Amino acid sequence: MEGAQFIDVRSDTVTKPTPEMRKAMFEAEVGDDVFREDPTVLELERQGATLFGKESALFVPTGTMGNLVSIMAHCMGRGQEILVGDESHINIYEQGGAAQLAGVHTRTLRTYPDGTFDIEELVRKIRPTDDIHQPTTALICLENTHNRCGGAVLPVKFVKKVGQIAQEHNIPVHMDGARIMNAATKLGVPAASILEDCASVSACLSKGLGAPAGTLVAGSSEFISRVLRCRKALGGGMRQVGVLAAAGLVAINTMVNRLADDHKHAQLVAKAINDRKSENISVDKDKVQTNIILINVNPKVISPQMFAQRLKQVRFMEDVSRTRSSQKYKTHLHLTPGRIDVVKKIVY
Ligand SMILES: *Cc1c(COP(=O)(O)O)cnc(C)c1O
Repeated sequence: MEGAQFIDVRSDTVTKPTPEMRKAMFEAEVGDDVFREDPTVLELERQGATLFGKESALFVPTGTMGNLVSIMAHCMGRGQEILVGDESHINIYEQGGAAQLAGVHTRTLRTYPDGTFDIEELVRKIRPTDDIHQPTTALICLENTHNRCGGAVLPVKFVKKVGQIAQEHNIPVHMDGARIMNAATKLGVPAASILEDCASVSACLSKGLGAPAGTLVAGSSEFISRVLRCRKALGGGMRQVGVLAAAGLVAINTMVNRLADDHKHAQLVAKAINDRKSENISVDKDKVQTNIILINVNPKVISPQMFAQRLKQVRFMEDVSRTRSSQKYKTHLHLTPGRIDVVKKIVY
């Protein structure tokens, strides 16, 4: 990022690999991972399983594939259904892959602003097992931190409650934990403890953790052996992919501790905006829990196009095309405190 003129906080996916990652990638020992012979991938999977408190883990190309292979591996039968929040990434941003590619029916629960949903609605929507007219409920999905809810961390009690109900009905819980390490950081607990009630998790290495690509799926060994088959069917079996896993190892070993900085910087951005006391641009400070900032812009005074233009003008954002539908920004390792001052110029 040296010499970069623009601050790009469209997403925490825009980060480039650190010099340490580049070095690890250069030096990585590799093998054919479809033959399960890439030592660097296997090491990442071992460490990932430990990190998430599960028996096994599997490296997959993306978070979208991580969720999809998890859904496929949990729903191997016909006529199966998953329960997901209506504002979840799985429901909004994954092209309906569960239906399109896995033949799985999706039933939604209304997402509350804090990323949770109503427990009574959950119970009501679990299908009876003795009615041949209805699909069978095969999986409940959670998301932590919750992307569209502005990086909200799911309350521990809520996850526990969902886990308890799932267990009573013998239904597994999958955690879309793209940013599970942000949740763990915010709560000050190991990721494994958040995931105690979840049969599986999909966790991105390429967001706040800064790796160039890759996601870990974790669960029981039996589950992961099914995930391995599903990954292959989707074309996600990669070969000498230790070059990417090497960066993933640097990510989980050295990048977790600095996530607290991203959260602090998000607070600073929110404060810088609110300090201007504008009637038209503000941030609900209490909603900034982790690294995502939702900026409220009064659409009657400032159109999305005007706002995007403003961001470009103060060199906050280069690509204005993607800012039109959303005022959602994410702090990451390239956003240093010195650069946050620029934020003040946005508000007018
Ligand atoms: C980013 C994200 C994903 C998917 O990740 P990709 O690697 O972009 O496919 C899944 N779930 C959530 C909550 C995300 O934020």
